Amino acid sequence: MKAITVDPMQSGSARYEDFPEPDVNEGSVLVEAVAVGVCGTDVDIVEGNYGWAPPGKSRLVLGHESLGRVIDPGPRSSLKRGDLVVGIVRRPDPVPCPNCAVGEWDMCSNGLYTERGIKEIHGFMSERWRTEPEYAIKVDASLGILGVLLEPMTVITKAIEQVFQAGQRAYWEPKTVLVTGAGPIGLLAALRFSVRNLQVHVLDRADTGPKPDLVRALGATYHTGSVLDLDFDPDIIVECTGVGPVIADSIQKVASGGIICLTGVGHGGVASRAVADVAKAVVLKNNVIVGSVNANKRHWYRAGQNLANSDRAWLSRLITRREKPQDFQKALERQPDDVKVSIQFCEI
Ligand code: BGC
Repeated sequence: MKAITVDPMQSGSARYEDFPEPDVNEGSVLVEAVAVGVCGTDVDIVEGNYGWAPPGKSRLVLGHESLGRVIDPGPRSSLKRGDLVVGIVRRPDPVPCPNCAVGEWDMCSNGLYTERGIKEIHGFMSERWRTEPEYAIKVDASLGILGVLLEPMTVITKAIEQVFQAGQRAYWEPKTVLVTGAGPIGLLAALRFSVRNLQVHVLDRADTGPKPDLVRALGATYHTGSVLDLDFDPDIIVECTGVGPVIADSIQKVASGGIICLTGVGHGGVASRAVADVAKAVVLKNNVIVGSVNANKRHWYRAGQNLANSDRAWLSRLITRREKPQDFQKALERQPDDVKVSIQFCEI
């Protein structure tokens, strides 16, 4: 079969190539790939900054935002041939740490977890893939191709859960939320906050393309420019850019008692503010800064419900480009109007 593979930490090593059929040890459910979403993590891996091949191997099959159709459900699953499924990304560490022992692999505390298409287990950018039945999430068939948005929806489902759990520490009545970055994660965050009784604001660099209208269609307000120029202090900020100055400005701008959830993974940058000054702002305003990555089964289950209950027409506007697997390089190159780019293995 064909697969998109990479030699992790080797820039320019990605290839669309012949690859062995998935090993039965990877799970009893055999799936035909339909589509795989591309995100910043994939770009990072292809640029040689991140990623780990399976032990003893040099190449890793890329891709963690899957959507596939069951070819063979195997002997011990309730799935049926033809079901649409998405594969869970992370596997618990083998020790296991206390978090993985209770099924919270997203909170793995010893770092020995594995992740499909990212860390030591093959991903989903291959014509066929296998999974253990307990790591296959069946998606509402009527979602069709929109099922490829499930993985990013799990990431934001966890992040929002973290915000409201942190909010339990004191009496808290949040009214305004700011999402920084109108990529897929930011827009899905805006979607999920818009169904709550909150005024939703989204800030991004783009002042053209599909993002402003996508935000306005939710009844939310779209901003460009600096976080510091906003005329309100957000009670909640979900930071989805990973850009140093945006993070620093968000910490300065958040309301007293407000909560900032960091979801963006950036690199380097220059410290734009003295660390003690940033800390002082957090202390004097009783702020919480919470980082959030990945998702466990509780989030996958809820995200599946959330996706199935969302406006399909709005969701479909998020998938702005589809590329063939052999054109994966094009999928990895960001274009100005991109929101979510997916690699389409077959039609559904
Ligand atoms: C994925 C997560 C993963 C994280 C870190 C993200 O792009 O969506 O599932 O945990 O990268 O590897």
